[in-house]
Amino acid sequence: MSKFMTLWTFFTTKKKFNSRKEIERNQEKKMLKHVKKIRNKSKFFSMHWDGFEDSQWRDFPLIDKSIMMENLQDYLTVNLDIDNAKNLALKAEKTRDFEQKTSGFTVGFSSGTSGSRGIHIVSKSEQEIWAGYMLARGLDGSIFGKHKIGLFLRANSNTYESIGSKNIKFQFYDLMRPLDDLVKELNENKPEVLIAPPSILRYLVDIKIKLKFRKIVSTAEVLTSLDKSLIEEYFECIVHQLYSSTEGEIATTCEFGTLHLNEDIMVIQKEYVDKEKGQFFPIISDFKRITQPIIRYRLNDILVEKKEPCPCNDAREGIAEIIGRQDDVFILKNKNDGFEMIIPDLIRRAVLRLSGEIQAYMVEQISENEIIIQIQPDINDLNFAGFDELWKAKNIIEPKLKIIPYTFVPSAIKMRRISRKFDFNHNN
Ligand SMILES: [Zn+2]
Repeated sequence: MSKFMTLWTFFTTKKKFNSRKEIERNQEKKMLKHVKKIRNKSKFFSMHWDGFEDSQWRDFPLIDKSIMMENLQDYLTVNLDIDNAKNLALKAEKTRDFEQKTSGFTVGFSSGTSGSRGIHIVSKSEQEIWAGYMLARGLDGSIFGKHKIGLFLRANSNTYESIGSKNIKFQFYDLMRPLDDLVKELNENKPEVLIAPPSILRYLVDIKIKLKFRKIVSTAEVLTSLDKSLIEEYFECIVHQLYSSTEGEIATTCEFGTLHLNEDIMVIQKEYVDKEKGQFFPIISDFKRITQPIIRYRLNDILVEKKEPCPCNDAREGIAEIIGRQDDVFILKNKNDGFEMIIPDLIRRAVLRLSGEIQAYMVEQISENEIIIQIQPDINDLNFAGFDELWKAKNIIEPKLKIIPYTFVPSAIKMRRISRKFDFNHNN
């Protein structure tokens, strides 16, 4: 496999930007070129942008996962048999063999938080570019230095393997396998850099693993501040983050641990949830993605702007926190016969106020008026003032809170500390 694109991307990825102007100029130039290409190659996008000039890309109609999946055949810029691709991806999940390829493209599945499956198709050169970019952003030190990197993944996406070489060794830990086996292998292999979901990092802390890492990177799940501080304390190093989804690599941490939006490969527009607090849904336009374009794609995560500048002086915008998926917004009855949305952050704060001794928690809203809270360790004298204040402030009819012992065990299932387990229809 050619590593040319990987190396090229690694060397041409700018480490830092000096000004917003520089970032915006680059984005405008790249977007214009990209939009022109996609309009020519994708039937879906040429229809979707009908009546818009290329230069109006900032105002193109939005897309999301369901629009993308419903139109997939026309959506792509390449001619691929979608039914065949779907079968390949299904087979890959069953056999754990993720080298599924069709006409040179890799086909993967993603599971949505609401259960809807996404299919993502990438070309060989897109994978190589991706690898080079992640190396440039994720690894300190030279690409020519020796690196031993351990990766915990839910699916063996062969993108990782594609950057294994004499100097860079990637060890793959498949989360579908028993956790004990993975820990045993981790102890034998001793990677220097560990990339894993926060639930696994946290598990390694809980079992008091006797390993130290040069660098720890949290990925794939939302890293809560509680988990972050416990992991950092145990391993005595900063937890870095790669905030990515199947739709793209959205943000990465700098040397100070601040998440910066990857505005050098995509444009991130904002749909504010609360402007004063700087909370927004990102609308991403990735100008490196060609096979399955991501342009004006609205994500379901809520990001929070970082108010203070980061000491690294990078002009790429800083993110204070990712406060959760839209699915995790709680929906409770208010006293006016309507419903009120409560963002996960508010639930999280109320939970942490139950006791200063909480080490871990999971909160599930299981019906309109019932919430189950798992906490660790067992604590007898809990203080519910945080919840009482929240219900009162939002004019909510007090739901039933049930406290039960903590039973969560990390696995291939994505961990969400705060989740809603019933479907809500706004027309109810
Ligand atoms: Zn920074």
